[in-house]
Amino acid sequence: MPLSDRRVAASTDPLTVEDSEAPRAAAPAKKKAKADAKPKPVVKTADKLARLGLKSDIDLVLHLPMRYEDETQLTPIGELIPGDIAQTEGVVFDNEIAYRPRRQLLVKIHDDAGDELTLRFLNFYGSQVKQMAIGVRLRVRGDVRGGFFGLEMVHPAVRPVDDGTPLPQALTPVYPSTAGISQAYLRKAIDNAITRVDLPELLPAPIAETHLKPLNVPGLLDAVRTLHHPHADSDESALIDGTHPAWTRIKFEELLAQQLSLKRAHEERRTRAAPAMPRRAPDDDASLVVRLLRALPFALTGAQQRVVAEIAGELTLAHPMQRLLQGDVGSGKTIVAALAAAQAIDAGYQAALMAPTEILAEQHARKLRGWLEPLGVTVAWLAGSLKAKEKRAALEAAALGTAKLIIGTHAIIQDAVEFARLGLVIVDEQHRFGVAQRLALRAKALNAADGKQDFQPHQLMMSATPIPRTLAMTYYADLDVSTIDELPPGRTPILTKVVSDGRRDEIIGRVREAALTGRQVYWVCPLIEESETLQLQTAVETYETLVAALPELRVGLVHGRLAPAEKAAVMDAFSRNEVQLLVATTVIEVGVDVPNASLMVIEHAERFGLAQLHQLRGRVGRGSTASVCVLMYANPLSQTARARLSTMRETTDGFEIARRDLEIRGPGEFLGARQSGEAMLRFASLENDGWLIEPAREAADQMLARFPDAVTRHLARWLGAREHYLKA
Ligand code: ADP
Ligand code: MG
Repeated sequence: MPLSDRRVAASTDPLTVEDSEAPRAAAPAKKKAKADAKPKPVVKTADKLARLGLKSDIDLVLHLPMRYEDETQLTPIGELIPGDIAQTEGVVFDNEIAYRPRRQLLVKIHDDAGDELTLRFLNFYGSQVKQMAIGVRLRVRGDVRGGFFGLEMVHPAVRPVDDGTPLPQALTPVYPSTAGISQAYLRKAIDNAITRVDLPELLPAPIAETHLKPLNVPGLLDAVRTLHHPHADSDESALIDGTHPAWTRIKFEELLAQQLSLKRAHEERRTRAAPAMPRRAPDDDASLVVRLLRALPFALTGAQQRVVAEIAGELTLAHPMQRLLQGDVGSGKTIVAALAAAQAIDAGYQAALMAPTEILAEQHARKLRGWLEPLGVTVAWLAGSLKAKEKRAALEAAALGTAKLIIGTHAIIQDAVEFARLGLVIVDEQHRFGVAQRLALRAKALNAADGKQDFQPHQLMMSATPIPRTLAMTYYADLDVSTIDELPPGRTPILTKVVSDGRRDEIIGRVREAALTGRQVYWVCPLIEESETLQLQTAVETYETLVAALPELRVGLVHGRLAPAEKAAVMDAFSRNEVQLLVATTVIEVGVDVPNASLMVIEHAERFGLAQLHQLRGRVGRGSTASVCVLMYANPLSQTARARLSTMRETTDGFEIARRDLEIRGPGEFLGARQSGEAMLRFASLENDGWLIEPAREAADQMLARFPDAVTRHLARWLGAREHYLKA
């Protein structure tokens, strides 16, 4: 444990020797300070507690230890083992300030057996030197080290004691704290609060009976007491690793609060108005949905039919849908979105489709125009890069309602855009949008409701980053989820090869071969996160070397800095097979769909995250030719990079990849903490406590249905101000 961490542990007692923040004993006394010098502002302890979020007795009581220290044992000095954290006791027989190699206080103690231990302090107060005077008996606790002069502890926690001072009977709690609040102070404040507060059970008896009893956990007050002051005979390791039944009880309460809160948000939505969009009969020749289905060159997969039905059913209801459509890359989400839009248009409303990049938005525009314009629907295209005149025309079409479907980037949510009758908002690759943009979209929807519309549009969010079930339950309990779990037929699986960049020439040879047999190829440039300029430069260089190496091929380059028109021109040429090799940065990561492309080379694959690699790879394997993805890496490979690359080689299943990604990275990073309900959890963690989510969810359903008052009180107790995190 690094010294700085240990200091938290060191301050377990008011008399503890505090170290590095302490002034040097020799620092000149500031007695000569001018009379008019302002006194330092004193932050009151109550304010400091408030900063920790500890305002009421309940807050204090629920401020639970982050870990424990075992001070119940004394180890004789002779039995100390270097590397262990231990507590021992002895009498000071030497106390000196040394100056070499640097200024330090050296205190030596011995115990009755005559074994010696050196205590070393690099920063110290004069008062501490006195406190550890020769002849004083000290109880010390710290990391044991084998020093040059025998055993030593550097900056141990130290307490003068009388011979025979009893040892604590229970583990000593260590609380989360901030600078300026000592553990001793916190402990006292919490102990006082425990005596004052009564912590009634809020779970209604029938809920406790069915959902809590099977967990075999103690009552709430009991659990809290155990956690603050574990009994001498409690299972120490279970307390420390968080599996003790007392912890289970607390985690259950917390997860219950989270589920309640998410479900409340969900229910609250049912009280708002949205346009009901009735379904048309399957033989209704006037229905756009019907005509679109008839015109499609393919039949929907079973999974597509199922999610289309789920969405269509919800659109008929008069409250806003908020549904996540998840489906692996290439599973065919776009047509599902188009059918939802068609249902909105059938009912006399407009639909908007927002995509995170201009390339993707453009491609959607092309695809949906191809499907809908022959059926007489006007589709408007709105992007930041449009010329003023085109933009004005698009805005007008949206405002007048002549455009039934408006497709674009986040330009759609900019202030100037008004819709005549917006009934459905579709967000593609929703995880790619920042929280701010999602909030803006929500505000836009609400504004639409305030203005001439007295309703809020339905929302369909699409994502190709599938979320494992436990995560979806915890984080998106306020969303309804539809999942496409089947790929369209006729896809040949992608073969993934992991090769070292030493074989670059060989790979270039493969690219030539593939292109000359009529296939198309993506070459993905290395990701350089630190510098966009460098990234661009690398892309241009890669392009130039490939052009030189493959003179017989038509090569294109696409990157984020190209003007949108140039970007569109290159993508167009590629989709018409006029370009055979497309050198690209990650701008092609999302959604790009060119079925004839069947070979992808990713350079420096070790720099990409799993989700990103999966998305990139999803650009191939869209046609009937067998596709290959070459992950080229440079040594040395880190452990996690190696894990990522083997995952990619072993599976193409997006859910499996997401599951492993979660394993490698942990849920916080996986979702981005602010994107999710994770900010609400203090005690429960998804890695360890996933099994508690299901019971918490069931209890939440019951409580909402039968005990609304208990719900409110439970939320106030456990979430308080934190609930607003969910509103993102
Ligand atoms: P994603 O879910 O990644 O957005 P797309 O909607 O882009 O996938 O679909 C990928 C490709 O599969 C597109 O070319 C699309 O037209 C095609 N497709 C979608 N559904 C089917 C289907 N049921 N049968 C055959 N091809 C389909
Ligand atoms: Mg897509």
